[in-house]
Order: sequence, then C-alpha cells, then structure tokens
Amino acid sequence: RRHAEDRAFAALEQAVADFDPEKAETFADFPLSAPTQRGLKQASYTRPTDIQARTLAHTLRGGDVLGAARTGSGKTLAFLLPVLELLWRRRWGPQDGLGALVISPTRELAMQIFDVLRSVGQYHSFSAGLVIGGKNVKDEQDRLGRMNILVATPGRLLQHMDQTAGFDADHLQVLVLDEADRILDMGFSRTLNALLAHLPKSRQSLLFSATQTQSVKDLARLSLKDPQYIAVREAG
Ligand code: ADP
Ligand code: MG
Repeated sequence: RRHAEDRAFAALEQAVADFDPEKAETFADFPLSAPTQRGLKQASYTRPTDIQARTLAHTLRGGDVLGAARTGSGKTLAFLLPVLELLWRRRWGPQDGLGALVISPTRELAMQIFDVLRSVGQYHSFSAGLVIGGKNVKDEQDRLGRMNILVATPGRLLQHMDQTAGFDADHLQVLVLDEADRILDMGFSRTLNALLAHLPKSRQSLLFSATQTQSVKDLARLSLKDPQYIAVREAG
C-alpha cells in the first residue's frame, strides 16, 4: 500500500511539472490531489476563474505571486488551492505544526476564507483555525499549537507570536497576504513587518490584492521572492 501511495505522490509531482495551462479548461484538467478534486466537485466549482487559471500553473510549482483582480473574481480559491496542494504534496501531518498562514485585514473576511477552506478542504485531514480576536485569547492559545493552517487578522496574530509560548512558525511553508491593499490602508504596515520578522525566509508567498498600488508593490518587494505579477483586467 505504501508503494502505491508513493507512486500516486510521484505521479502528481510529475503532473505538476508537466502541466500546460493552455490545455486546461476545467479543474479536472489541473494537477490537483484527489481530496482537492473531490472538494471542488462537492462545492460545485467546475471551471477556474481568470485569476485562478492564470496563477495556478505558477503557484502549484511553488512560485511566489502578486495577483491583482477585482473583488468577486475568485481570489480565495486562487490561494487556498496552492496552500492545500503544497501541504498535501509535502505530506504535512498533525505533528508538523503550522504549515500555512493566511492573513486577512478583517474578521469578516477571515471568516469567509475559513468557510471556503472548510468546504473545499473537507476531504483533507489538515487542522485549521481562525485567529481573529474578539474571543478569549486563552482559548485561541490552547488550540494554536496544533493547527496546520491558520487564517488570521494581523493584530491578533502578532499578539500570539509575541505572547503565546509554544506557538512557532519556524516550519511555515506558505504565507498568504489577502487583500494586501486593504491591509495597508487599514494601517497594518508596521504590524505586518513585525509579523514577517517572525517567519522563515524559505517559504512560498502569495499576495493578492484588488488593486496594484505602489504600497502593495513595495510590500511585494519586501515579502515575495522573484514573484510573477499577474493582473486580470475587467473585460469591456
Ligand atoms: P474575491 O476574493 O476575488 O473577491 P472570492 O474568492 O470571494 O472573490 O469569490 C467570489 C465568488 O465567486 C464567490 O461566491 C465564490 O464562491 C465564487 N467563485 C470563486 N471561484 C469560482 C469558480 N471557479 N467557479 C464558480 N464560482 C467561483
Ligand atoms: Mg477576497
């Protein structure tokens, strides 16, 4: 059984390496793990949106991206799919700790991301948690050390990094900054810099934004490595 499993992982790696986005139309054509494919199907996602299709080839191979596309264009799946796939292909498990961190400007947006994660990730066995404040810090603290994927707002996350013993991001594989323009507009720039200082340098980073402002580009330069800049324009 072990050998069959190894072969499946090797085949997926090969499919990612060989993937030609020009030939892909539906999610079924993308090199995604079986649990992710099942989750997409269950949630009735069939075809990737523009921003998803244009970023996935690069992000599935582990590349950094600055993706800009208007609100409602499907940015959530554009970063959640590579998060799930990276951890799956690294065979991330309960004992590996925090593998992925998604930072969102507001509690409401963080909760929406968490819902999509729970839906599309339902056939994976990663543990996932929300760190958004408004709840007892102690309750969050107790669960934090056991999470593989965290969706967090910047202020509360930094509070935990500074205060919570046993919470470490030393093995983090992937960082997502969602709505980067809003994170900066809300004045979280210094908090973000402090957070980045806690994170390992060798990681994949995905930065998504509705607009590509100068401050977003500055943040990208600070937090991404050789990123691809992918902007989807409105049709018409
Ligand atoms: P954004 O973050 O860019 O504002 P969202 O990720 O919140 O956009 O997605 C906007 C809406 O589009 C959501 O209702 C989501 O369920 C839907 N959606 C996202 N990707 C797809 C897809 N591939 N197929 C169909 N609907 C999708
Ligand atoms: Mg969004």
